[in-house]
Amino acid sequence: MKYVRFAYQGTTSYGLLEEDTIQAIKGTPFGEFSPTGKTFPLDKVELLTPCEYSKAICIGLNYSDHAVEFQLPIPTEPVVFMKPSTAALAHLGVIRYPKQSHRLDYEAELAIVIGKRAKNVPILDAENYILGYTCANDITARDLQPKQGQWTVAKSFDTFCPFGPFISDEVDPSNLTIESRVNGKTMQKSNTKNLIFGATFLVSYLSNIMTLLPGDIILTGTPGGISGMHHGDTVEILIEGLGVLKNTIG
Ligand code: MG
Repeated sequence: MKYVRFAYQGTTSYGLLEEDTIQAIKGTPFGEFSPTGKTFPLDKVELLTPCEYSKAICIGLNYSDHAVEFQLPIPTEPVVFMKPSTAALAHLGVIRYPKQSHRLDYEAELAIVIGKRAKNVPILDAENYILGYTCANDITARDLQPKQGQWTVAKSFDTFCPFGPFISDEVDPSNLTIESRVNGKTMQKSNTKNLIFGATFLVSYLSNIMTLLPGDIILTGTPGGISGMHHGDTVEILIEGLGVLKNTIG
């Protein structure tokens, strides 16, 4: 299924995306729900972030080509950082260019969406805690990243976590083409088979550190080819089976 969250005439609801139509559901994808039979044309609603997270956990350097790009050794354990809930941004939302930065980068990433509370989950059981997958863009103020001992400032400005447009449970996360485009030009192109740490490993690993809650998202890292963006640019993240996440730079 493909899950969306949307607003229509002041009402917010979860729904199921079926081609160009959304069917509203009663309840949420994170528990019991039932289709209401009410349908909406996709182009008549405002798509919101497909869920609300308590934390967006991000993995750095998880594609071997990105590590090579930065001349860094292949990590033997995931590099982990987080983005606050205030960084969340929906499909078609505007990414705000912070006045403190002069180099704003896109990072195309496959995001895992947690479906139910997860603590100390074994790898072999991890799939049962995943609702599905979505596109994400790990927006980074690259010039601020080396200034501090850690990455929080460079990664945490408001609007720095666009994700969506929908969550799908119909894809195999270990073999998806992933691409970013700026103003229509392909900037990154890879496949999730190049991930160093895969989805079930990450859910297990992270759940042994912190309890993962329904709606939490895990950004799995970006392939090589990162670069800067400018005011007025359009950035798109395209992942096979997960649609296109499109945003502009304000
Ligand atoms: Mg990243």
